[in-house]
Amino acid sequence: MSLENTHCPVCRKNRFEEYLCKNSIMLFRCKECGFICADTSSVNLNECYNREYLHSTSGVGSYVNYEFDKMPMESTYRNVLSAIMKVRPGRRLLDAGAANGYFVEIANACDYAAEGFDINISASEEASRRGRKVTQGDLFTSDYIDSSFDVITAFDFFEHIPQESIERHIKKMNTLLVPNGILAIITVNTASVLARVIGKHWHTLLPPEHISYFSKDNIKFFLERNGYDVLQASTINKSFSLQYIFNILYKWQKLSLWRRITLFLERHPRLGRFAFKLYIWDNMLVIARKR
Ligand SMILES: [Zn+2]
Repeated sequence: MSLENTHCPVCRKNRFEEYLCKNSIMLFRCKECGFICADTSSVNLNECYNREYLHSTSGVGSYVNYEFDKMPMESTYRNVLSAIMKVRPGRRLLDAGAANGYFVEIANACDYAAEGFDINISASEEASRRGRKVTQGDLFTSDYIDSSFDVITAFDFFEHIPQESIERHIKKMNTLLVPNGILAIITVNTASVLARVIGKHWHTLLPPEHISYFSKDNIKFFLERNGYDVLQASTINKSFSLQYIFNILYKWQKLSLWRRITLFLERHPRLGRFAFKLYIWDNMLVIARKR
């Protein structure tokens, strides 16, 4: 199967062309708006998010240990919450793709009444053990009430959503938000300098884990078309643990040296969990308000 006769969910034009085959999965690029997505017709996405996803040097996931790999992001997350508070004082927050609830706990510490959902059963179980509210399921299986959240956060979320349900997700988020509610997205940016310079070698092109890729321009267009006003679309640099960086390097280049270093770092957590901020400018933070 191919996406060549499929309408792009972002611009609705029928202009997909083959872009890259990676991990036996074909990625397509829209010639009109630049949106890149995978043909996932032969992929069982539920299998990707199995019990090993958050703690794995062997499965599809990029995390060695989610909790420790995310800790370097704490100050970034707090800064994002400060930016949201300036435009939306309400405190009811839903985190999409919350994993083990690491961000939910930070949001609660910042006076939000935060909860999340995640498709991964082991993520919600770990969240429960840590006293964080994360429901197992997706946006549609969880019984959220319309207009019940002031803020929805979707950090590292939309790159995991298949193109055929991207629009459904953005519309559902709109119905769950109160009027003037805020949607905050962090995702990779195909128009970043790094992505444009290294093109098909960009390390985030990682199907089946990453299957949908926006640019700053086309995500703005997509949000505006689906009932949001975009307040901010800015570049964001992320912080990572050293073990996560080498695990990503291995998944990107498949070099056994990176794998050996990752496994070494996993055995030496004081070194492996050392935090680095990577100034590669290929992620974006988009803050949008429900119209
Ligand atoms: Zn398009």
